[in-house]
Amino acid sequence: MLNIILCGAPGSGKGTQSDFIVEKYGLSHLSTGDVLRAEIKAGTPLGKEIDAIISKGQLVSDDKMIALIEHFLDSLSKDCKGVIFDGFPRTVAQAEALTAMLAKRNMSATLIDLMVEEQSLIERMINRGKTSGRADDNLETIKQRLQVFHRQTAPVADFYLEQRNYFAINGNKSMQQVFAQIDNILQILKH
Ligand code: AMP
Repeated sequence: MLNIILCGAPGSGKGTQSDFIVEKYGLSHLSTGDVLRAEIKAGTPLGKEIDAIISKGQLVSDDKMIALIEHFLDSLSKDCKGVIFDGFPRTVAQAEALTAMLAKRNMSATLIDLMVEEQSLIERMINRGKTSGRADDNLETIKQRLQVFHRQTAPVADFYLEQRNYFAINGNKSMQQVFAQIDNILQILKH
């Protein structure tokens, strides 16, 4: 199985690139942000709790996220070609748990790091906010999310780098140029 972690700051293009990867490689796409937003939309008590956290640009607890991933891995069909993890892991504790959950199933994952300059990230998210309807695509929350990213998520890249399961790519390019870089990496990993 070809398991990819698409890592990058909020607004780095993880969702867009995931769509390209799904189209070419037929991998299963798990966006934890999408799963959480669906829970909010369903209006459950858990959804209300999550809504308060996401709207502040904070992270949902590791325990909840790890349980969600375990459930997702259990639901994968036998003919699954691999998974794109989009938005997970976001902390080193989540990365350690993912490594263990995958190892239990004789699997591993490689991290692809989408590197994008901060000013572009902010512009992209402000623009997305005009149509996304997302409660967290506003300047105040964007700044908070970027801080959380630098403090809690950036160390995840080091975790995979130390395990030599890491590729960094230049995300300051057109969507097609970014995908071309990802495509090259996936061709290497496939063999
Ligand atoms: P995203 O759609 O990936 O930008 O995620 C939107 C928000 O969902 C994040 O700012 C977090 O509040 C929450 N979230 C998504 N994935 C995770 C995760 N792996 N751990 C904790 N919180 C998450």
